[in-house]
Amino acid sequence: MINFENTYSNLPEEFYEKADPASFPKASLLAFNYKLAEELGIDVSSKSEAQLAMIFSGQEILEGSEPLAMAYAGHQFGHFVPQLGDGRALLLGETKGFDIQLKGGGRTFFSRGGDGKSALGPVIREYILSEAMHQLKVPTTRALAAVLTNEPVYRQEAEPGGVFTRVAKSHLRVGTFQFFASRQDHKNLKVLMDYAIKRHYPKATSPIEFLVEVAKAQAELTAIWTSLGFIHGVMNTDNSSIAGITIDYGPCAFMDEYKAQKVFSSIDRNGRYAFMNQGPITQWNILRLAECLIPLIDPDENKAVSKIEESLKFLPGLIQEKIEEKFSEKLGLPDSNRILNHLFLSYLEENQLDFTLSFRNLPELFNGDSKGYPDTEKLQRFLSEWRPVAKTKELHSINPLYIPRNHQVQRVIDDIYKGQLDSFKNMNKVLENPYSFNQELDHFKEPPTNEQRVTETFCGT
Ligand code: AMP
Ligand code: MG
Repeated sequence: MINFENTYSNLPEEFYEKADPASFPKASLLAFNYKLAEELGIDVSSKSEAQLAMIFSGQEILEGSEPLAMAYAGHQFGHFVPQLGDGRALLLGETKGFDIQLKGGGRTFFSRGGDGKSALGPVIREYILSEAMHQLKVPTTRALAAVLTNEPVYRQEAEPGGVFTRVAKSHLRVGTFQFFASRQDHKNLKVLMDYAIKRHYPKATSPIEFLVEVAKAQAELTAIWTSLGFIHGVMNTDNSSIAGITIDYGPCAFMDEYKAQKVFSSIDRNGRYAFMNQGPITQWNILRLAECLIPLIDPDENKAVSKIEESLKFLPGLIQEKIEEKFSEKLGLPDSNRILNHLFLSYLEENQLDFTLSFRNLPELFNGDSKGYPDTEKLQRFLSEWRPVAKTKELHSINPLYIPRNHQVQRVIDDIYKGQLDSFKNMNKVLENPYSFNQELDHFKEPPTNEQRVTETFCGT
């Protein structure tokens, strides 16, 4: 059914620990992404939903699959943890160069005190969010399947359990490099770098070139997030992807009303991962990767550090430049215009306006329909400078109408907990075409009322 390639399990034994999925005899299928399966060449035509539930909860191990938990370390909120690893994730194998991984499949070598399982809520969230991100043209992991275990997991209280199948260009992280670097295992560090180069950056011919490629990919990713009002929420180095994709949909959220320093995550007490800090944090994470590569760059540490400094000089400028470029595109401006970007964003912030809809309705504003835009001196100033230069005709293909808003995701989760699947199906459907007006499902564009507002998000555990 899946042609597994398994390059990762051919790496040295220090890279992973083999793992057996937990038993979930009552598992049933909640959702399966048939389109994605087809793209990956996974033939499920002869499989019933019951069989898919068994496969994508780890009950049936397909031929060629060697489930394993990957080793990694990471800086969590700035504090280094030398060993994290997949505590509730199992890599089944790779196909067409993509990892197929179960999340919530049971305990592994790296589980520490955890149960290795997942509640259903985070499974639903990740399913909706990651597929929406893909349609919004954001590099991301994707959702292949969501399974109900039909057994409780115990968090603050008993909750229904779930298993999520995620697909990724890879699960290599800055934290994977930190795992070997912190052990001074230079041999495996080199093996890892060569593997990452081969898999993601085949044109890179040196550690420095590799570093620069990762930095560029992450700069682009962060700029895309920013242009969509997306807050990742937990940009720890163990969630910082070498391939430059979005991984870990724990406490992330799309902003409703715009606030530059917006924080959702309940555990981000100091606002380390606030919306507009994501650029500087990307840079911080890349520097952590750079540190790991020092022994591979030059035997003389001082020389290695100067090479890094020289080659990463461009990074802060690049991230900011990309963010400005994308905001100007969203405003329909022919050239990047920092002043107009800032003027519009500060107008949104001062008036607590909805980020997504305020960009989406720009063509109307351009044509004189200012519904939803309070008339202030700043708006007038913006209009007088923006109208003469803006082209708004194509803007609907840049500024989405529908995003996975927190309160709607929460409603879908509540509905599924009550056994109702309609809102889940509808939400996935509308988010399949986030740029196109959908008459029947247009209510998904609505920001929350005060009662519906979700003010805090929580990690998947
Ligand atoms: P995350 O918040 O998903 O980035 O996870 C941080 C670390 O905690 C990783 O090493 C996870 O594998 C581990 N972890 C998270 N949830 C669980 C769980 N339920 N059981 C065991 N380990 C977990
Ligand atoms: Mg993580």
